[in-house]
Amino acid sequence: MRTVYVNGDYLPENEAKVSIFDRGFLMADGVYEVTSVLDGKLIDFDGHAVRLQRSLDELDMANPISKEDLLEVHRELVRLNGIEEGMIYLQITRGAPSDRDFAFPDPETPQTIVLFTQNKPGLADNPAAKKGMKVISIEDIRWGRRDIKTVQLLYPSMGKMMAKKAGVDDAWMVQDGFVTEGTSNNAYIVKGNKIITREASPDILKGITRTAVLRFAQEAQMEVEERNFTIEEAREADEAFITSASTFVMPVVEIDGVALGDGTPGHVAPRLREIYLDESRKAAG
Ligand code: PLP
Repeated sequence: MRTVYVNGDYLPENEAKVSIFDRGFLMADGVYEVTSVLDGKLIDFDGHAVRLQRSLDELDMANPISKEDLLEVHRELVRLNGIEEGMIYLQITRGAPSDRDFAFPDPETPQTIVLFTQNKPGLADNPAAKKGMKVISIEDIRWGRRDIKTVQLLYPSMGKMMAKKAGVDDAWMVQDGFVTEGTSNNAYIVKGNKIITREASPDILKGITRTAVLRFAQEAQMEVEERNFTIEEAREADEAFITSASTFVMPVVEIDGVALGDGTPGHVAPRLREIYLDESRKAAG
């Protein structure tokens, strides 16, 4: 049984409760972050804390916890649950007013903050990284503020189910002919020594892993081009990969049934994964 955190208390998971009037539950009026844990330490906590504040600001939502206290809660949950490898999920909502209403509640309404751990032994050594993953393309019909990390995840969840039904691992979403991102990750293609990924805008979530990986790529003398690309271009690329806090860097070896190169992970994605894991572990806290 996990120990979770809810509104200031550390509780067994089956005793943690949230109101049925919570805006997160009724309106998806909440934001979240997922921070990974390696060697019992947090990967890029600062990056996640900064993006959390930005998501809250964009939604005119207050931040109920200081960065220092948030770090302490993350560390305490890792300790209490004995997490060596895994993730910490954090969610903040606009709280639970006394009734359902479209209008935002009085700003004095106490907000809801919940954190829990997900134990994933072997996360870094994931065998899927050696094999690579397969994706299909689907239309991107999400709302226009994907740069805000809201809990409004119904379409990404449906996208994962479409992928599952097609017998593959994930879906890349396409808007006006160009790839936006994966259902829960950023998408990249590789041509020669060049890494191509869509530029940051309200169309995508600016991944914390994306920022770190692009920096490491440039430091390793790889060329990075932030621009739109189509599925057709992706199918003809030398390699492709995704990034996210829970998958790090993961090669993509097939898009819509077409194998990339010889259908195995190339050189760039596995190398970036290694660099990312090494550097993140060194900087973990
Ligand atoms: N894009 C979407 C839609 C996501 O949901 C996520 C992560 O959940 C990402 C990108 C990757 O972001 P990060 O690297 O911060 O995990």
